[in-house]
Amino acid sequence: HASEDPILSAEKEVRDWASQKSSEIAQLKAQEKYRREFLSNISHEFKTPLFSVQGYIETLKDGLIEEDVVLATNFLNKASKNIDRLVYLLNDLDEISKLETGQITINLEKFDIIELIHETVESLEDRAKEEAIRIIIDVKNSQPIYVKADRQRIQQVIINLINNSIKYGKEGGRIKINTYPLLDQILVEVTDFGVGIDEKNLPRVFERFFRADKSRSREVGGSGLGLSIVKHIMEAHQQTVQVRSTEGMGTTFGFTLEKAKAGN
Ligand code: ADP
Repeated sequence: HASEDPILSAEKEVRDWASQKSSEIAQLKAQEKYRREFLSNISHEFKTPLFSVQGYIETLKDGLIEEDVVLATNFLNKASKNIDRLVYLLNDLDEISKLETGQITINLEKFDIIELIHETVESLEDRAKEEAIRIIIDVKNSQPIYVKADRQRIQQVIINLINNSIKYGKEGGRIKINTYPLLDQILVEVTDFGVGIDEKNLPRVFERFFRADKSRSREVGGSGLGLSIVKHIMEAHQQTVQVRSTEGMGTTFGFTLEKAKAGN
């Protein structure tokens, strides 16, 4: 039998070893590339607000603070907004790294998803009003629907999706929130009628730091982390999140939740 030939079997062992090593090396290289890109993305995201804060402070130092109090105050407000942005970015990064390294625990509890949607929409209504956007919650679903999930993290998911719909939605338009009962699950959908997402970018929107060019050109603030946080949270719940979109027409994001069984 060929495999019993000591030379052949030694050769096979060496080949196996070499192929295992080369796949390990490929994996390490991929990790290294990922880390490099991650760092370069982070530094890019941090540089913009930091440089602008630096610019405002320099100008104030150079005398603006005495010359023009109104403009100086305006610059201070802008600097403060940029600092806020950095804080949001850090929070998102912190959240992402916890989610990616499995350092978070999902606290499952039973709650009414309809109530959570109403509560969340209320907290975002002022922001929506700034863009003259109306948020419409499907009225068919005024009955409570109990789900089993991490309430706080699901609220984060809803916030991120609605915030995106406000950012990329149509000014003066609407955002619709629908819920659909499935067999053992509930599907929640957030729909806007805004810029939409190019078909080629659709599979990439959940990647961290991914931002479609359109959104850059609209210059809406954002880190490109919101949807990857959404995806991680849904995966930690062993549930799904999907997107469908038509460029120039609008976008629908949908996620599922497990229905709570009677009594738990
Ligand atoms: P951010 O909004 O901070 O850029 P996200 O991870 O939330 O990051 O979204 C990633 C990208 O997906 C956005 O930059 C945008 O290009 C696209 N996107 C997300 N939501 C929508 C939406 N409702 N309509 C159109 N494009 C969207």
